Amino acid sequence: MANSLRLTEHLKKHFGFDSFKATQKEIIQSIIEGNDTFVLMPTGGGKSLCYQLPALMLEGTAIVISPLIALMKNQVDAIRSYTEKESTAHYINSSLNKASLEQVKADVISGQTKLLYVAPESLTKQDNIELLRQINISFYAVDEAHCISEWGHDFRPEYRRIRTLMDEIGTKPIIALTATATPKVQSDIQKNLGMVNAKVYKSSFNRENLYYEVRHKNSEFEKDMIRFIKQHTGKTGIIYCMSRTKVDEITELLKTNNIKAMAYHAGMDSIQRSTNQDAFLNEDADVIVATIAFGMGIDKPDVRFVIHHDMPKSLEGYYQETGRAGRDGGEGLCIAYYDEKDMEKLEKFLISKNKSVNEREIIKQLLSDVSEFSRTSICRRKFLLHYFGEVYEQANCCNCDNCKRITKQVEAKDLLLNVLDAIAALKEKFPAEYVITILSGEETADVTTYKHADLEEFGSVVEEDKEKLETVIRQALIDGYISKDIENLGVLKLTTKGKSFRKKPTSFTIQMEDASEESSEDVELKGSGGGASDPILFSMLKDLRKKIAKKLDLPPYVIFQEQSLNDMAMFYPVTISELSNISGVGQNKAQRYGAEFVELISSYVKENEIERPEDIRIRIVPNKSKLKVSIVQLIDRKVSLEDIANNFNLEFDELLDEIEGIVYSGTKINIDYIIKDLLDEEQTEEIFEYFKNSTTDDLKTAIEALGPDIEEEEVRLVRIYFLSDVAN
Ligand code: ADP
Ligand code: MG
Repeated sequence: MANSLRLTEHLKKHFGFDSFKATQKEIIQSIIEGNDTFVLMPTGGGKSLCYQLPALMLEGTAIVISPLIALMKNQVDAIRSYTEKESTAHYINSSLNKASLEQVKADVISGQTKLLYVAPESLTKQDNIELLRQINISFYAVDEAHCISEWGHDFRPEYRRIRTLMDEIGTKPIIALTATATPKVQSDIQKNLGMVNAKVYKSSFNRENLYYEVRHKNSEFEKDMIRFIKQHTGKTGIIYCMSRTKVDEITELLKTNNIKAMAYHAGMDSIQRSTNQDAFLNEDADVIVATIAFGMGIDKPDVRFVIHHDMPKSLEGYYQETGRAGRDGGEGLCIAYYDEKDMEKLEKFLISKNKSVNEREIIKQLLSDVSEFSRTSICRRKFLLHYFGEVYEQANCCNCDNCKRITKQVEAKDLLLNVLDAIAALKEKFPAEYVITILSGEETADVTTYKHADLEEFGSVVEEDKEKLETVIRQALIDGYISKDIENLGVLKLTTKGKSFRKKPTSFTIQMEDASEESSEDVELKGSGGGASDPILFSMLKDLRKKIAKKLDLPPYVIFQEQSLNDMAMFYPVTISELSNISGVGQNKAQRYGAEFVELISSYVKENEIERPEDIRIRIVPNKSKLKVSIVQLIDRKVSLEDIANNFNLEFDELLDEIEGIVYSGTKINIDYIIKDLLDEEQTEEIFEYFKNSTTDDLKTAIEALGPDIEEEEVRLVRIYFLSDVAN
């Protein structure tokens, strides 16, 4: 207990955060206790902090092995921004000149350096090994550890030698971190790093803040894409294209449409590439158009949208790429354009490269999962998480196109029975696609070869139900009636649950699009993460951040993160100590970069005669109460309740819940203007008098006492008014 309290204090002191995310605390604890530790956490989950914080706390230097030279500087800059001395963090890679390397060595040997980032290829150099042998190492961190596995999406042969090198330097606890969740990669990593007994921390791969949508690629889709980007002007986004030519073409198209876009692909020379990458990180470009060569390790936390101009080769890839949106927990819109013809072309292309039969089957399987994901009417989040072996319990995620679309539940008991019978008749030896072929009665070559047209199940599904089969099978997988045999490339098997369903069928429903309603075109996008701050001040703060970043040659978010700027534009901190209470700021950051910010805020506050709400000014604001605080601010500015509700995507009564929470916790708010607007004087008086004389503030009692002419909402409003006026 005492210890965990201390950890939170360290977190606040070093990074300015109020609380740990997910399992960060347990992970850090495990490292401090000296255990080998294995962390599987999605992109944006906060992996870096899991080794950075213990590195700062423990004696000695932590060695961080990270694959991307181009991003090491960013990572080191980021950690330096939180500490007093530059010497706290350093990196060694082939880009360092001699003088810098000498400085690094001096700092490392004198024990000032707490975090030393090393590229895997630099680790093999004898000089560096000698250096590392001389120092006191606290632990090794292997970031992006999936690079060890050939099954990972970014295999690096030099990663294979890490264990041997570490033993040569001196054995210490290891923490390995990755955002790749498949069991095969996990076991490869543990075996290769010799840490099969490590403590394993696997977080949920659900990224709640990401909105998933798949749009059909019609002839107008590029226009649609431009419209989308224009609707989000000023926000940062990534567009993924399948080919380099497409990247160049789309970049030009966007530029012609006055969108600040830049290209990134492996065919460009490395200087141009890194210039464009920097422009993106430094916010000189809003949109980067790229092949999948772009992205791994890009730590830009405030990417607001990821667009797939073309669907990727696997769902793993889709998850990684969309995962680059909204790492800070704010808005992250993931829009993909799908066309079945693309998938066919892609399959031909990938298979044409002389692959072995096994590799071809893997490619087909992966692509068919992507197609199915694109076409499904099931919640996309549920689909995706199921793909990673995770159960998503909720019926509806409310944050994907399918969940926002009007759908209806359709009974599909008989269809499920058909599917299960067919799987059994096929002796559990065929994949979903073939099961559908059989049920639909298609005479393919395979059907002829296996003489499957003779099966009783052949053609047993009527025409109008055929299109439901894919959904039925997917839903059956998710609900556990059947399972996919991973070893045998998607062959469907009956589970115990499936077998008992065959004996005694029960209700089984699938979600289908309701054709009578409007289609996806009009689906509203989710509101932005924290749009409640002062937008003018926010953009001024952003400009200031950009200016300072330019001067210091750092990416802007290293100075302060977007969330923090957002909070500043909400709480108006005017002193360094107030500033250090802003989430994500902390003592050191406030000291280091704060002066110009508080100066700007304070003159803004003066010029615009802004009244800073006393009670929230200096309070440390945990994330949860953010919404409440924003509501108080908007009420202060006399914004109508309707607008406030819209702003936060709340129903009116949900907003009233929040406001009640505010007044019950003792905060005084003035809703005179609302009452005057919505109620007549007589009503108000009547309800007010009631509460004044009543012994209880219970809503039901009040409604009963006041009679049927008065609406519940009116009672609630006046009760808020009363509580705020009298009780607080
Ligand atoms: P990952 O490496 O897992 O993709 P990062 O380490 O880059 O993720 O962290 C993602 C974002 O989360 C960063 O902007 C980081 O500052 C932020 N973050 C990490 N831990 C916390 C925390 N405890 N509270 C608030 N923000 C955090
Ligand atoms: Mg990371």
